[in-house]
Amino acid sequence: MSINIAIDGPAGAGKSTIAKMIAGKLGYIYVDTGAMYRAMALYLLREKVDPSDAEAISAKCREADITIGYENGGQIVYLNGENVNGSIRTEEVGNMASASSPNPDVRRKLVELQQKLAADTDVVMDGRDIGTCVLPDAQVKVYLTADSRVRAERRYKELTDKGTACDLDTIEQDIVKRDRQDMTREISPLKKAEDAVLIDTSHMTADEAADAVIALIPDRE
Ligand code: C5P
Repeated sequence: MSINIAIDGPAGAGKSTIAKMIAGKLGYIYVDTGAMYRAMALYLLREKVDPSDAEAISAKCREADITIGYENGGQIVYLNGENVNGSIRTEEVGNMASASSPNPDVRRKLVELQQKLAADTDVVMDGRDIGTCVLPDAQVKVYLTADSRVRAERRYKELTDKGTACDLDTIEQDIVKRDRQDMTREISPLKKAEDAVLIDTSHMTADEAADAVIALIPDRE
């Protein structure tokens, strides 16, 4: 039986850092579902789709073929065959992802891909609806969170380390806005699954948080 670990939580809680670390320690496949919504958002931005036009999003999302590959243990997202890993980590793409992810056609397409990736494979998957919707039978479910200022500081450091100029207050405002959008949408809102374990990483290192998740894995049947 394969083991599925579902990690959900708001932007900047440390989901991807911790999920990657767990995957590395255990030899599981890491599936970053946010990257798929970002790749879809990049397509919509390139096609100049209005984020408030649900019909246009539904029509255009059919043209975007999103696939996943792995290189040196890292996930690569392909948009119509093009590796877009280098283009999806901007605030603009993140905000478009949050605006377009409530669309049922976008979600149906990406959830199907995510469920296929987790079938018969040990995975650690992170996102917003993994424990509640994508992998409801996951053996381990975690809701990872942290104070919004701490989350903004982490994003700020990530961006400035890459040489991108940014402003901490603007990042925090974006994060709070994105959380609100993700938590209040009708379809698959971000919320803690009833059987998920809450871990607040505000005062934890990534390593400590990864070990706290690993400690929840049951023995293989
Ligand atoms: O995690 P990340 O910041 O890359 O996600 C970008 C956006 O994609 C989120 O704000 C959310 O709207 C959307 N998303 C989602 N469901 C997921 C993963 C991401 O709706 N499973």
